[in-house]
Amino acid sequence: MELGLVIFIFGSIVGSFLNVVIYRLPAGKSIVFPPSECGNCGHRLGFLDLIPIISYLLQKGRCRHCGTKFSIQYPLVEFLTGLLFLALYWKFNLGIEFYLYLVLASLLISATFIDFKHQIIPNKLTYSGIIFGISSSLYFDHIGFRWALLGFLIGGGFLLLVAIASRGGMGVGDVKFAALIGTFIGPTQTFVGIILGALIGSVVGIALIVTKQIGGKDRIPFGPLIALGTLLMIFFGDSIIDLYWSIVL
Ligand SMILES: [Zn+2]
Repeated sequence: MELGLVIFIFGSIVGSFLNVVIYRLPAGKSIVFPPSECGNCGHRLGFLDLIPIISYLLQKGRCRHCGTKFSIQYPLVEFLTGLLFLALYWKFNLGIEFYLYLVLASLLISATFIDFKHQIIPNKLTYSGIIFGISSSLYFDHIGFRWALLGFLIGGGFLLLVAIASRGGMGVGDVKFAALIGTFIGPTQTFVGIILGALIGSVVGIALIVTKQIGGKDRIPFGPLIALGTLLMIFFGDSIIDLYWSIVL
């Protein structure tokens, strides 16, 4: 079997675990125990129910026992994680960045969906990500410890200033989230990624207000935008920064 397919399947399996994280972490439940069950009838999901994407399609998105509809979030997260893992493999082959960004991508996806649903990014997620990012910078030399630490300080510091300036418009969860990203990709990429996310957010926000999908006072969650900006930097960061300099100079 081609390695790309294996990596996609692996990603979708990780994605089904991320669904558990997204569902249970904000509720303060254990993400390890008990095993997954139907939210309505409590029926424990068997091995076959746990096959990503395919089980959802086969059962037309319903519980086999009580017929309750499962959220489209489940197959979406599985598919998205599989796709991102595959894209990371295409970009980095099996280099150290590939493995580290698998972790970062998983954190980005979890934070994005939790932020959409609950308007928070849990401390458990950001703290464990920061610890992982800093310690992997000590162990591998992909960006080095100092650059990771600078990423932490500048990513978090930049959003802290925004949070203070916005007087509560932005949560402290976003600040920790940006600090976490900084430990993986360093200060420059983090900074540009946040700017990119904010730009995309403004365009989308204005479009949504103009088309009356949302009111002018509705809050657009910033976490998913930071996550999107970060992914753009991971995949196209060098070209984006080159483009920027070619415009400025
Ligand atoms: Zn059920």
